[in-house]
Amino acid sequence: MRRPLVLAAAALVALAVAFAFQLGGRSRAAAKVERLPVAAAGERVAPAPPVIADGVVRNVVLLLGDGLGLSQLSTARIHLHGPTGRLALERLPVLGLMTVHPAGGLVPKSDAAATALASGFATTNGRIGSDPAGRPLGSFAKGFHELGGAVGLVTTSRVTDATPAAFAAHVERRGDQAAIAEQLLEARFDLLLGGGRAWFAPVAAGGARADGRDLRAEARAAGYQVVETLAGLDAAGPGPLLGLFAADQLPLSSGEPTLDQMARVALTRLTATGRPFFLLLEEEGLDTAAHQRDLEALAAALARFDAAVEVATEFAAADGATLVVVVGDHGTGALRIDARSTERELVAVWTSDAHLADPVPLFAYGPGSTAFSGLHDNRDVGRALARALGVELAAGAR
Ligand SMILES: [Zn+2]
Repeated sequence: MRRPLVLAAAALVALAVAFAFQLGGRSRAAAKVERLPVAAAGERVAPAPPVIADGVVRNVVLLLGDGLGLSQLSTARIHLHGPTGRLALERLPVLGLMTVHPAGGLVPKSDAAATALASGFATTNGRIGSDPAGRPLGSFAKGFHELGGAVGLVTTSRVTDATPAAFAAHVERRGDQAAIAEQLLEARFDLLLGGGRAWFAPVAAGGARADGRDLRAEARAAGYQVVETLAGLDAAGPGPLLGLFAADQLPLSSGEPTLDQMARVALTRLTATGRPFFLLLEEEGLDTAAHQRDLEALAAALARFDAAVEVATEFAAADGATLVVVVGDHGTGALRIDARSTERELVAVWTSDAHLADPVPLFAYGPGSTAFSGLHDNRDVGRALARALGVELAAGAR
């Protein structure tokens, strides 16, 4: 009798271990505890931006924090500014929430999430700018550009990564970076800044393109200036600009240019076109840090994102006709503030490093901003952005 009992006990242990792995999220079983100092109460409360009377929207700036959920925001804020401190983005007057579910599931990836924002349609994870059957979906950025608007896509990830790609490209697999790079150039947008140089250069020149094409040379032939350093970015003359500052995504720390540096250049250059503009500013570091379950790095990425929000808000305050919308695409990493926390020490517990299905925070400022108050689906936020720019997205089943 003893042998079957031992076997049964072993089976139970195996089951318990398997269950613990399930609970732990994508890949790790054990929860990770982090202890970080809490900033002194009210250490920094960003000033509220001046009130802008509602009016005509000329420009839209969309700031997207990849992986920015509510628990990411609150833990990072407590570490950076204290529980009663406020980030600049938290001082924007209009606050909403956005649901983020993809087609065919509940937990989104950045590709489906960004496609919903750009097109107003839900799609399945893994697709960019194409519906679950593989048919291309519209993008309000492309529609706006066709109407004569200027468009800039700026990211600390690869310019070919899911979020910027969804505004210009249509592929059935987000990993098809070579095709995305081609389609980004074909869109003829005014400004593309970020990483991902490898997908614009052939293997022979140190890139990743197997087809031998050098898209940097093709971009120059099409009238773009191509820069690869911060100094080059600052020195670039007027006209369309392609900035590729790293082979892959920009490094988490010491990555230059930072999002706020790129935001300043982008706003100046898009204004100089004399046309109304749409500008996407994406910070990738939040998602990367949360996948690594690194709260310090997450807070640093949020601080960099917030600096870009300040740049955009200052521009909008002075301009008066620019709508600023700040949102996450999905939360990344389940993060709990533990009861052992004190007013001086934040004890945070990562229980998962995976994407979340919870609604994400949504902030807005400027003319048209009240449309973003309340609970919205990401498809409807995309449609509201399109409307603000005077673009009609395709109707039909969503
Ligand atoms: Zn992610």
